[in-house]
Amino acid sequence: MIRANDNFNKLKASYLFSDIAKRVDEYQQNNPGTQIIKLGIGDVTRALVPAVIKGFHQGVDEMANDATFRGYGPEQGYLFLREKIAKYDFQSRGTDIEADEIFVSDGAKCDTGNFQELFATDIKVAIPDPVYPAYLDTNVMAGRTGEFKEGRYNGIVYMDCLKENNFLPELPKEQVDLIYLCFPNNPTGSTATKQELKIWVDYAKENNALILFDAAYESFIRDKELPKTIYEVEGAKQVAVEFRSFSKTAGFTGTRCGFTVVPKECMIFNSKGEKVSLHAMWNRRHTTKFNGVSYPVQKAAEAVYSIEGQLQVKEQIAYYLNNADIIRNTIKSLGFDYVGGKNSPYIWVDGQDRDSWDFFDLLLNRASVVCTPGGGFGRCGNQYIRISAFNSFENVTTAMDRIKEALK
Ligand code: PLP
Repeated sequence: MIRANDNFNKLKASYLFSDIAKRVDEYQQNNPGTQIIKLGIGDVTRALVPAVIKGFHQGVDEMANDATFRGYGPEQGYLFLREKIAKYDFQSRGTDIEADEIFVSDGAKCDTGNFQELFATDIKVAIPDPVYPAYLDTNVMAGRTGEFKEGRYNGIVYMDCLKENNFLPELPKEQVDLIYLCFPNNPTGSTATKQELKIWVDYAKENNALILFDAAYESFIRDKELPKTIYEVEGAKQVAVEFRSFSKTAGFTGTRCGFTVVPKECMIFNSKGEKVSLHAMWNRRHTTKFNGVSYPVQKAAEAVYSIEGQLQVKEQIAYYLNNADIIRNTIKSLGFDYVGGKNSPYIWVDGQDRDSWDFFDLLLNRASVVCTPGGGFGRCGNQYIRISAFNSFENVTTAMDRIKEALK
């Protein structure tokens, strides 16, 4: 008898964004003609920049000619892209990450979800609350949790991120083996300084633990003091893997490209307590299960690092950050507490005594604006909503005018 993986039964039946879509559809049906403004799902709205399109076209043109056509490429990514990443994203910041420590992929969702495959089922996993759901759900699928009760899975060590701790996870009281961190954070938009990250690096070193650091929103950091990569923290190369994405950095959500940094000096332990190279394990996993990102997409990603590419993507990030400023200012003027939006496209708004779905419904019904209810990211999000800066300036301005009117 073919039997199912029963761990899937433990997953929460509904998915946050499909629940939102259902409510939005219902509202639209009852209010035909109303223009709904979506500041919910964190998807970019602006077109790929001209330099990227040029690189993309070049890649396509090469595929159209026998002399330059490419079939299967290296699973880890073409060296032309890995070298640019190493140079511009890491070595330029004084971190000595090499091209062969970079694994190009079709995005950070797959990598953050797949990476847990390398670890034993009975390790202790620490996950922030609220959290980007892929970290948690993939550990549920892998059988690392018990049942879901009162908003939490048994077996996971949750790290509450609240106003009281500045939305920064604190060291867990019990010893953990795997720690998920994400800065700038989705959903809260909070950031961590080098000193704050050092606490985690030191913890991981002392406890033979590993940090999975998601830096998908790194390009939104404007504060010069904040680290753009965890490898700016001394010793992090021994205990941290970093996930990056071109999705938000350069508008690749539909084009698909990201990468994961697995330093060669990063070691984990087998059941005998012997050191095992994480780099070798991920290389084996990646080359066995993945056949590389398409050549034109890698050419498009390479173009992000050209002089024009850099200018153009920075302008695009500035555009979204300007939207974030408008949102922050509106929220502040209405007297709500918030975090994020300074070095992040997300603003995490405290609804005070309101439940996050009630706040969501209020904004939808009174302002025709869609946000994301914080409860969908974890129990600690129950009184928050996430507002995203990914939309046009005009739509963000209109949405904020409507919210001001609705909540005054
Ligand atoms: N990590 C975080 C924290 C995200 O918010 C997202 C997307 O929203 C991803 C990863 C996924 O990125 P990608 O589009 O590269 O799969």
